[in-house]
Formats: sequence, C-alpha cells, structure tokens
Amino acid sequence: MKQKNQRSQTLIISLYWLLVLSACSSVENKPKFSELQLPQEEKTSQDMEDRSEKATDGSSNNLNKQVQRPLIAEPKTPVIAANLDREPNQSSTEDSLQAIPLDRQKATKFVDIRGVGDSAMALTHQQPLSLTQRLPQGVAAHFGQRLDAFDRSGKSYRGDLSFINWESTVGTFCNRFWSTRGPRSFAFVSHPDNMSEIYKRGFNLIGLANNHTRDCPSAEEGVDGAYASARHLERLSNLREANWLWHGVGTDKKAKVKTMTIEGKPIKVAFASLYLAEGDCTYVSCLKDELTVLRSLRDADADIRILSLHSWTASTQKQLVNMGVNFISYYNGDIVFGHGPHRSSPVRIVESPTGKRGVLFESLGNFIHPSLIPSSQHIIGRVLLDLDSLQLRQVQIIPISVNRAHVSFSGTPNPTKFPANLNWKFVNNSTWQSGVSSSVKGAYSNIKSFKQ
Ligand SMILES: [Zn+2]
Repeated sequence: MKQKNQRSQTLIISLYWLLVLSACSSVENKPKFSELQLPQEEKTSQDMEDRSEKATDGSSNNLNKQVQRPLIAEPKTPVIAANLDREPNQSSTEDSLQAIPLDRQKATKFVDIRGVGDSAMALTHQQPLSLTQRLPQGVAAHFGQRLDAFDRSGKSYRGDLSFINWESTVGTFCNRFWSTRGPRSFAFVSHPDNMSEIYKRGFNLIGLANNHTRDCPSAEEGVDGAYASARHLERLSNLREANWLWHGVGTDKKAKVKTMTIEGKPIKVAFASLYLAEGDCTYVSCLKDELTVLRSLRDADADIRILSLHSWTASTQKQLVNMGVNFISYYNGDIVFGHGPHRSSPVRIVESPTGKRGVLFESLGNFIHPSLIPSSQHIIGRVLLDLDSLQLRQVQIIPISVNRAHVSFSGTPNPTKFPANLNWKFVNNSTWQSGVSSSVKGAYSNIKSFKQ
C-alpha cells in the first residue's frame, strides 16, 4: 500500500514537472513540451490607468531610522532549507494590525511591495505581435489592455514597488529561434512596446533572467535575443526616463540600485534577477553568476534588497529555495520573488542569524501569458515593510486564476490554506478590497518583530 502510494506520488510529481517543463525549458538543456490550446476571451476596452503618485512632502531627509543590520560572514557550507513544517511559525501573536487595504495610497506608513509571476505577450515561434494585432483569443496582443481587463484600478498589483517576471525575449524580430517549431518546443518574443505599457501601470521591478529570454539566439541585426532585450530596456529607460529597475539580461550581472520616492522618502532599492540554469549565460544571469549577484546585493548602498529567482525543474526549484534562504540569511536580503513551477509554492519567512526577517515567495506561479496552461493556483504576493524601520510587518497573498491572457480573482482556493510558516487570516471586506472587485480575497499575517 505504502509502495503504491509512493508510486502514485511519484507519478503525480512527474506529471507536474512535465507540465512545468512544457513552458519552462532552457535553450541549451532540454526539450520543450507543447500544451493545450485554449481559445475564447471576451473583448475589453483599453483604459488608461490611474497614474497618480503618492503625495510626496518634498522632504530632503535622506535618513531612514532603520535598524542597522550587522554584516555576517558568508556560509562555509551550502545552505539547505529546512522542511517548511520544521520552520518556526513567524506570525506575531501581539500585533493587531488589520489587513492593509489593497489601495497603496492607504498604506501610508508602509513600503508596499507586490510581485506577480510568469508574464509575456507572445505566441510560440511567432514574430512579436504589435499591440494592435490580435491573439487567438480575439483580444489585442496588448499587455496593458490585458492588465486593465484584469484590474482597471491596478490596485491589486500596484505597490510602491511592483515586480513582474517577464518570461520572454523582448524584441522586434527573431531570425532564428532556439529550436524549430514542433509540438514539444516553445519560443517567445514579445514586442518592446509592452514594456512601456507595464511601466505606465506601475511595474518598476522587471525580472528578465529566465529560460525564455534565451529563446532567440539571433534577433534583430543578428544579435542574441537576450542582448537585444537588454538594448530595448536600456532604450526605453532613456526614452521614458523610467525610474524602474530591470535586471537579468545584458552583460552586467551586478545588482542594480535606484532611489525610489516612497511616501515622500527617498528609499534606495537594490534588485537582481537570476535564472537557475547552466548553459550560455553570456547575456542572461544564471547559476555561474550566483555569488556576483548575492554579493552585489549585499554590498549595494541600499535600504531594501530584492531578488528574483527562476527555476525550470523540480531540482532547480529546490535550489531556488536554498538560494532564497541563503540570500535572506547571509546577504541581508529582504524579499525573494521565486517563479518557474507555473503554480504557486509556499511562502516562507526566513529569520537570519541577526534576527532580521525576510520573505521568500517560493513561487508566485503565473500571470498574464497567452501561451500558458489555464489554472487557478497562482498568487500576487504582497509585502509591507514599516516605513521607518523597514522591518517586515505584514505579508499578504492574493490568489488569482489564469487563463492565458485572462486573469481573474474567481475560482481560486481558500488562501488561508496556503502553505507557509504563518497563521493566515482571511480577508475580503470592502475596505481591504478598495473597490478592485467584490470577488478579490486574500490572506494576511503580521510578522514577528526583532524582539519576539
Ligand atoms: Zn520558465
């Protein structure tokens, strides 16, 4: 009986990773698998987002009263994450803070940080679609419009800092994809205009280290697609004078730092993105860049440190969790946004030897992506840091279901059952919902402080 259970468990795990591989396989390492084609999509009107910024007080006060975090030595042996069940529960029993409303403008005493998983606006092995071209679902291949159709107010995904894993090469043309077209291969190139659209709607942390930024070894002018992606991001940064942080493509593997004005305070944010693979990492940050990435985050002149990690197999997902724990424990990390398994995985609060706590979203799952399998196991992750101390105060998860280019809050599991070393509380009251949708629900937990 036991053996049978084990066998069926193995089968389930194998099937799961087969699905994962279907959209997540690196250029050099393994085949890609096809997935079901799903049509049907309702039309939606384009709507410009509410771009109002939070009020700033014009203060030139540059000093955060944050806790000084003592530096600690790098670990001498590989860090292996404990089983989540064995991690101490990190929910505060004393903190009575209610769920902070989704409207970030109401989160005045916090740095409000959100993250979404695998996203793109591309069909496999096709030239990038312009924003006015149509997807097979009948809607425009316009990431901004798809975001508006999901949440016109943007309040569910827009924090002071909003992360997205852009799971696609960014370019205007691909001469040659990493593989020929076939039922078992995938290759994505998204039009760069989509990046402007996501920036307009508040995404300012763009992770680009993943398998699909390696999908086009010969893009426009014959350059590598990952290099072309970096060039486009650079061009758009200048064009829009964009105060965003993008990382993971290009030859500079060190973390990037920008000063963001949050609640009138200048806060220095360090960000990096890494893909857990070997192979050709010339233009995509990958495993061989691990120490460069971790050390540059640690050594950055920054107040907050955020790392995006992308896996592609069960074993690299394990590695992802280990690396995330290592980053928070020994490299002064605050937040890890993990993705790659195409479904959500636990939220883990990590306490470093200094007593500081950070949050590791082991996997956010998927977000808007016209070529991914429909499913309902995905989240928007939300982190609220105390504005003064920058300590972790509250974590929220907002479950979403994803049907290719269509994302909704309906049909998702009870978020209080979401695996975490936390006691979740349910929230769906209208104050918290902030008018986003009557079906949006979430789970939240206040986190133990230094003293507890
Ligand atoms: Zn992937």
